Amino acid sequence: MLINNETIIKDDNELIRRKSADVSLPVSDEDRALLMDMLKYVDNSTVPEIAEKENLRPAVGISAIQVGVPKKMTAIIIKDEDGNKTCEYALVNPKIISNSVEKACLESGEGCLSVADAHEGFVYRSARVKVKAYDILQEKEILIKADGYLAIVLQHELDHFKGILFYDHINRKDPFHKEANAQIIE
Ligand SMILES: [Zn+2]
Repeated sequence: MLINNETIIKDDNELIRRKSADVSLPVSDEDRALLMDMLKYVDNSTVPEIAEKENLRPAVGISAIQVGVPKKMTAIIIKDEDGNKTCEYALVNPKIISNSVEKACLESGEGCLSVADAHEGFVYRSARVKVKAYDILQEKEILIKADGYLAIVLQHELDHFKGILFYDHINRKDPFHKEANAQIIE
């Protein structure tokens, strides 16, 4: 599937609010191909020469509903400042099995491939999550124990399965409200 900033569904399309369904296992060739295309998008999106040529907006994650497919699949790649991957997942049916009471948010707020406008404000999420999923890169069920940035990214992507966008979590009256005991991630 061709995935670029033209084909990615934006929040003016009601499909982005649709709930995603479980993927049947074993993963079909069709689902696998789509998830690998999503992973490739994320990987290429942070390489400026490719991103410019192919009209890719930089991202660390993408979920299938963002390309119009309401299935629980998400691709995540986080890179360090030198462009080396610090984590890479192509997840089928990821599910949060536990989450911390402690909250965290990104100091700079969040962005989303499906949201063109800026929505400033803190998006509080659990500081730590445990996620169970089938990872097609490792070809097995895995348990991700995430904190910090990865925990935020996982919760952002899994929200897409429920039709929730990051700005739904922003306090409208006080977007930069400081919650007691919450970590602010730089
Ligand atoms: Zn998003």
